[in-house]
Amino acid sequence: MKIDHLKSVPELPASVKGKKTRPKKTAWVDEDNCTGCQACIPFCPVDCIEPVAIDKHVFPPIPPVQIRFNECIGCQICAKVCTKLTWDAIRMVDTDNLEERLDIIID
Ligand code: SF4
Ligand code: SF4
Repeated sequence: MKIDHLKSVPELPASVKGKKTRPKKTAWVDEDNCTGCQACIPFCPVDCIEPVAIDKHVFPPIPPVQIRFNECIGCQICAKVCTKLTWDAIRMVDTDNLEERLDIIID
């Protein structure tokens, strides 16, 4: 059977490389839209998506995921996976803007 809806889901890269340069855009999870399904987690080539710790999250019962910004290489795979397979909860955000908005420094 042909599975057309998976056609545009990216393949996992053959090898995993860490961050070398600061990406222009960084992945950011819109927590209000994230179902916590975790479908995006295995697709991240640098393994920097994780569920929010249960003690830091009250409602809904399934915690959303979060990105470890310092490790994100800005590849956009997670955003494509979320849009194609589940919901539309990951945005690629300008790294400078993200720093400003969250008052953090992203290496
Ligand atoms: S695939 Fe989308 S909805 Fe599912 S956990 Fe990841 S960001 Fe959240
Ligand atoms: S943009 Fe790429 S590196 Fe960053 S969280 Fe998403 S899949 Fe991981």
